[in-house]
Parts: sequence; C-alpha cells; structure tokens
Amino acid sequence: MLSRALRRRCPNCGAGAIFLGWFRMRPVCPSCGLVLEREEQGYVVGSYMFNIIAAELLFAAVFVAALVLTWPTPPWTLLQYGGAVLMILAPIIFYPFSKTLFLAFDLVFRPVVPGDPGAHR
Ligand SMILES: [Zn+2]
Repeated sequence: MLSRALRRRCPNCGAGAIFLGWFRMRPVCPSCGLVLEREEQGYVVGSYMFNIIAAELLFAAVFVAALVLTWPTPPWTLLQYGGAVLMILAPIIFYPFSKTLFLAFDLVFRPVVPGDPGAHR
C-alpha cells in the first residue's frame, strides 16, 4: 500500500489515474470504487500533517548534507535562502503524495469493511 501511495496510485487496488491534476484527487477510485476522501475533515488535517513532517525531514536532511559536504566553510547565506525556498516548494511537491500516503495509513488501521460508506461500490 505504501509503495502504491508513493507512486500516487490508489492504495487499495494500485490503479493509477486517481488524480485529476497535481492538486485534485478524484473523490472515488475509478478502478475499485474506493472512496478516496473517506472523511473530509480528518483527511485535510492528516495529509497536511504528513506534508509538514515530510518537508521538515527533507529540510533537515538537505541542511545536514550541505553542512557535511561544505564543512568547515558552509555557505550560510545560500543555506538560509535555499532553505526558505525548499520549505515553500516541498509542501507543493509533496501534496499529492501526502494525500495517498495518509489514505494508505488510514486503510492499514481502518480497513474497508462491508457496509462502510467508504466501501467498494
Ligand atoms: Zn482503487
């Protein structure tokens, strides 16, 4: 499920094309009928949280790598501005992945059961 999510595919059946664009996800998987937005409110918060964590981790990794590679004279100014740019771009780049990843985690802990409004149609 996680590898499907990382490829922006339906975590349930692995079908592609669940995104209409970079930011717009289909409400229902066209292949297996899984409701992709299972609970609107929780999903917005959950995928947002995933996004922030991913951006923070990327920033920390790039920052540490830059320090190690350029030590003892790190380009502080470049790191400062580069870090700012990265923090703006990362959430945009991660956005669709954060949605599918959150859906995958949700499916692990709350599998689709018959009668679930989010079940297959
Ligand atoms: Zn599917």
